[in-house]
Amino acid sequence: MTTKKISIIICCYNEEANIPVIVTNIHQQMQHLPYIYEIIVVNDGSTDKSLAILEDLCKDDKLLFYVNFSRNFGHQNALKAGLDFATGDAIISMDADMQHPPELIPSLIQKWEEGFDVVYTRRKDDKSLSKRKRKSSALFYRFLNTVSDIELEAGTADFRLLDRQVANIIINIKGQNLFFRGIVSWVGFKQYALDYYPGKRHSGESKYTLKKMVGLAVQGITSFSVKPLYIALYIGFTIALLSLLFIPYAIFSLYYNQPVSGWTSLIVTIGFLGGLQLFILGIIGLYIGKIFTQTKQYPTYIVKSTNLNNS
Ligand code: UDP
Ligand code: MG
Repeated sequence: MTTKKISIIICCYNEEANIPVIVTNIHQQMQHLPYIYEIIVVNDGSTDKSLAILEDLCKDDKLLFYVNFSRNFGHQNALKAGLDFATGDAIISMDADMQHPPELIPSLIQKWEEGFDVVYTRRKDDKSLSKRKRKSSALFYRFLNTVSDIELEAGTADFRLLDRQVANIIINIKGQNLFFRGIVSWVGFKQYALDYYPGKRHSGESKYTLKKMVGLAVQGITSFSVKPLYIALYIGFTIALLSLLFIPYAIFSLYYNQPVSGWTSLIVTIGFLGGLQLFILGIIGLYIGKIFTQTKQYPTYIVKSTNLNNS
């Protein structure tokens, strides 16, 4: 029987103080297990010393590899790069900041050995997470499930194990705007959910700014459904219908009121309809933008340097 190989991919954006810690912790978990393994760190355009630290660590660590982007391409694209470069029979992705506890790795692998193709994790909320994070996360999933066609469980993050077969399918999906959580739920296969309590961020600040979080939400919604376009259609139709009712009223008031008295209602209607039209145009624009980026077929990330030889 040949030994199976596990790939562990970590995306990092300005995690200089976390990289040595997470790498050491992963080694501690893996060295007792009967597998060959590799750790691939994707440096997503860090502006701190992350790259230098990585290059240095790689010199003495034959199981550690890095993929260095030419700039910041975002977490989802970094994850895609990790999958593209990984060579394992199973691929585990986790954050660099120790919020995804490495102690969970043996359980992830065990479930995979039991025959599950996807072992994803569910974060149990506890006090170690900021209130803002917990609230925004809960809201994120509620909103996502309402306005899109896929079902996502709250607390699932990009901490999971994928079997090689599933990874290959995801690698071959030609999409510009990846949303891993959605894709993983969409592909099906035998999936298992593992609950865990998140650790504290070891060092540094969350790289998911409000802007990135909103971006991810919009990504999640528009990647998996055209439902918002229908919502736009319904809203537009309802408002148009309601404004039809206004015509008899306008004619009526032409005879019975002084026309100038209609100014208030006019300005309110114009303002409301104007805003609504812009909103709906915006939704349509989002989808057209997606068609645009898709047809350009630009790469989703650019690798500037790596010490892997399968590039
Ligand atoms: N990350 C990344 N690119 C980005 C933003 C974040 O690779 O543009 C990485 C980051 O270094 C971390 C993981 O994605 O390893 C999750 O980010 P973070 O811990 O900041 O998010 P949070 O845990 O607050 O959701
Ligand atoms: Mg984090």
